[in-house]
Amino acid sequence: MDKILKGKAVSDKMKEKMLKEVKKLEKKEIVPTLGIIRVGDNPDDIAYEKTIEKQAENLGIEVVKTVFYDNVPEKNLIREIESYNEDETIHGIMLFRPLPARFDEDKIRNLVLPEKDIDGITDESLSMVFAGKKGGFAPCTAQATIEILKHYQLDIKGKNVAILGRSLVVGKPLAMMILGKNGTPIICHSKTKNLKELTQSADIVICAMGKGKMVDDTYFSGNQIVIDVGINVDEQGNLCGDVDFDKVLEQVSAITPVPGGVGGVTTSVLLSNVVSNAVKEMKKELYK
Ligand code: NAP
Repeated sequence: MDKILKGKAVSDKMKEKMLKEVKKLEKKEIVPTLGIIRVGDNPDDIAYEKTIEKQAENLGIEVVKTVFYDNVPEKNLIREIESYNEDETIHGIMLFRPLPARFDEDKIRNLVLPEKDIDGITDESLSMVFAGKKGGFAPCTAQATIEILKHYQLDIKGKNVAILGRSLVVGKPLAMMILGKNGTPIICHSKTKNLKELTQSADIVICAMGKGKMVDDTYFSGNQIVIDVGINVDEQGNLCGDVDFDKVLEQVSAITPVPGGVGGVTTSVLLSNVVSNAVKEMKKELYK
């Protein structure tokens, strides 16, 4: 078994599949297209956007983008989301969040048409995940975690899985997805007591807290599988996960690195959702 669960191997497989599908779509003159809407110039958003654009270009996926100043009136943002919803050439919409605090984010995110919600941000997409129904898209990072476990053939069934973090983007939907695969999720958060006992007795530990290197060797009893979703910057200004990778490596049976783990797979999941929607359109055209 691989000890370091690199995201690249997972992304490469996904890209191979996407390239084949994009070629088939090309024959039907369909170009899978992602619509990005960003408000403001948060450097993290811009960095992720650049990664998406570069990967999309390599795969033959088109990206259209609207960038608003921070002070854009809410009605303009709403109008743009509606226009992306109506635009038949756009197969998926990615709205950068969090939006500036003055926006009613709950209202705005739910304006994205559920069929185009390739980032799993609407209540409708989330309710499908929670109901265990197929058809919608799960939040990409939660899906990326599942893709990594699947790629490295790390079975979830019957396993105790400690999830550190309960956000709607990662922890909560992931817990439901693990339940759907017959694992036993243990959802932990900032008020959880005996956190170390829970991680030490788990088979799989997923960290999604945004607490750089918090999880060290004292959280493990040996032979656990660790998925580190966290993206943080350490004291030296380097990217790091929630797990202290160097301290933990010898003690666990497998671990994702940061960078080089979940992040890249998340981008691939997002783009594969766009391609998958374009394929759905192609199939609809065929049966018209
Ligand atoms: P978030 O909304 O801030 O949620 C963090 C969660 O961690 C909360 O549920 C919080 O508990 C919990 N938490 C914080 N401190 C804790 C502690 N000491 N012990 C136990 N639980 C604790 O963050 P998020 O959006 O889910 O993101 C989490 C991390 O994943 C961040 O580093 C983010 O950058 C990263 N991320 C990575 C990707 C990727 O593609 N790799 C994508 C998205 C996010 P409470 O609910 O009690 O506050």
